[in-house]
Amino acid sequence: MRFFERYFKGENKILHKNDNLFGAFADFKCLSQTDTTGGLPSRDEVAEADTWDLTYLYKSDNDWETDFVAWEKQIPQYMQFQGKLAQIDTLAAYLNFDLVFSRQGEKIGSYAFLKSAQDVANGQYQEMTARVQNVAVRASQSSSYMRPELLAIAEADWQKLIEAPALSPFRLNLERIASFRPHTLSGNEEQLLAMLGEFAAGPSKIFGQLNNADLRFGFIKDENDNEVELTNGTFMVFLNKPQREFRKAAFHQFYKAYDDHKNTLAATLNSSIQKDNYYAQARKFDNALDAAMFDEEVPRVVYDNLIEGIHEAMPALHRYYDLRKRKMGLPDIRFYDTYVPILSDIKMHHSWEQAVDLVMESLQPLGQEYCGVLREGLLTRRWADRYENRGKRNGAFSAGTYDGLPYILMNYQPDIIEDVFTLTHEAGHSMHSWYSVHNQPFQYYDYVIFVAEVASTFNEQLLTQHLLKVADNDRQRAWLVNREIDSIRGTIFRQTMFAEFEKLTHDAAWAGEPLTVDRFRDIYGSLLKRYFGPDFAIDDELTLECLRIRIFIAGFTSINTRPGFRRPLPCRNASSTAAKKNATNIFHSLKAVAARNRSTCFAVPVSTWPSRNRFAPRCKNSPHWSMTSNSCCNGLFFHHEVHEGPRRFFRKE
Ligand SMILES: [Zn+2]
Repeated sequence: MRFFERYFKGENKILHKNDNLFGAFADFKCLSQTDTTGGLPSRDEVAEADTWDLTYLYKSDNDWETDFVAWEKQIPQYMQFQGKLAQIDTLAAYLNFDLVFSRQGEKIGSYAFLKSAQDVANGQYQEMTARVQNVAVRASQSSSYMRPELLAIAEADWQKLIEAPALSPFRLNLERIASFRPHTLSGNEEQLLAMLGEFAAGPSKIFGQLNNADLRFGFIKDENDNEVELTNGTFMVFLNKPQREFRKAAFHQFYKAYDDHKNTLAATLNSSIQKDNYYAQARKFDNALDAAMFDEEVPRVVYDNLIEGIHEAMPALHRYYDLRKRKMGLPDIRFYDTYVPILSDIKMHHSWEQAVDLVMESLQPLGQEYCGVLREGLLTRRWADRYENRGKRNGAFSAGTYDGLPYILMNYQPDIIEDVFTLTHEAGHSMHSWYSVHNQPFQYYDYVIFVAEVASTFNEQLLTQHLLKVADNDRQRAWLVNREIDSIRGTIFRQTMFAEFEKLTHDAAWAGEPLTVDRFRDIYGSLLKRYFGPDFAIDDELTLECLRIRIFIAGFTSINTRPGFRRPLPCRNASSTAAKKNATNIFHSLKAVAARNRSTCFAVPVSTWPSRNRFAPRCKNSPHWSMTSNSCCNGLFFHHEVHEGPRRFFRKE
């Protein structure tokens, strides 16, 4: 279990949609939703019905405190198992203790994390989050003997051990530990790595505080002459304005703030990259990318092929920019011309309730149960924290919890149709979590990010198809097709550019090259040229973008969000010969569990993955396996992951 991974690095179950297109994809700010002239409401001004219901986790901060203290006291109990893990009974007792401890940790950590996401400037919740992190690191240290001790068991004895009935609920966890044999160090070395956990999380924390709390972009005039606060959210609103002068002004003002902090940001990013490389080197990988891919059990060749394939497809993208320029009647095309829809006069307004209705109509193919649970979650059970407030974490995410609800953070804006897509996206994650929680034991309910985006982007596809069907006229349909192209551009091309940047910068640091502001900008600048094409006018400030994209601080998190992996395009291709061939062998077993989970939409893309996925054959072995919980091969308990460093904690932020 890996609540740390989820709640401090923002990974598996914290599934964001930001950075898809820009870095704050879901952060459109509606000028009518909240006070537009005086800035945002503070957290305590937000109506309760618009917030998520965290009482499913804890009724009060005091209840949390009581649980936290009891939880913390258990850490020394890890020591009682040390040196005895080769005995089946002791190992089973250890794993069961670990399971309970981890589950408590997830609940405690979720509450602190979600509270702090409401208002990142709130010191109390920051402190609670830090305390949880501290306990998790100490637990990690106290149990760091586990992996080396297990891996010291001779292969023949190991096989007998994992076949013991008492260990069957944990068999996949144990098999996964065995796969780390070449990358596991001695007991003392593991302990030293574990002790690094907390301060190795520094770059991500620093970036988060700077970006979410301290950076101010000032106020800017909109087309109605209103002074509007420029934020990550309103920036996207401005980039979506049909009048170019407003897009341009917002772009330059926004990047001015990043220019003012570029040295801090570059140093933070450099530290993050050094940290990734350090862990990769310590664990005997050839580079940080290999380490990241190994972790996710994705063959390296998939990553390399994706970049290569995207390079080949680049001319199509460049033609699209040219088309955009012509259709929009622009003298040249710049970054701030790429988000506004070509047909920008299409107006749509959806209140939260209307958005939920629309999403539900589009999700009808997934069945009554799916829609019923989700509707209730979004409308009455308060899964979602709906609107932006001052200090609220930007973007959107879904954070599944085993003992609470599958929470959703939104910064919903009714005038932004894209936010309806964001809503159905996060709803896809949350329903994935919901099914997983209701069909899996705790140790297997988590799922790897590599597959996590399937459920969410599949929902987006259903919404597109539904909207195309019910559109009133061709202009609306053209708008939807344009959106779809931009979505492919934003997810497939742009995310691949991010992937390439991460690879190049990690490689440069690995080779001993100093990564300064200028070097970062050079590397990013050459990628911008390549991806935007020879006829695209690139503003100097745009090279600062590499310092503000959250996922770069997370280190190779984007490998798993690379749309080549995650976009539901495979769903649509599932009837192709190759996909069918690949699917035939595993589809029967998927169906069996699908019937239990009644969420068959997830099965199709699963069947089209590269053949070296460990999920398919394993699903036959594990009674717990289901397609909504691919965690069976990923279910190491959190504190054994902590010493992998914060790359794992902050990956997708
Ligand atoms: Zn997502």
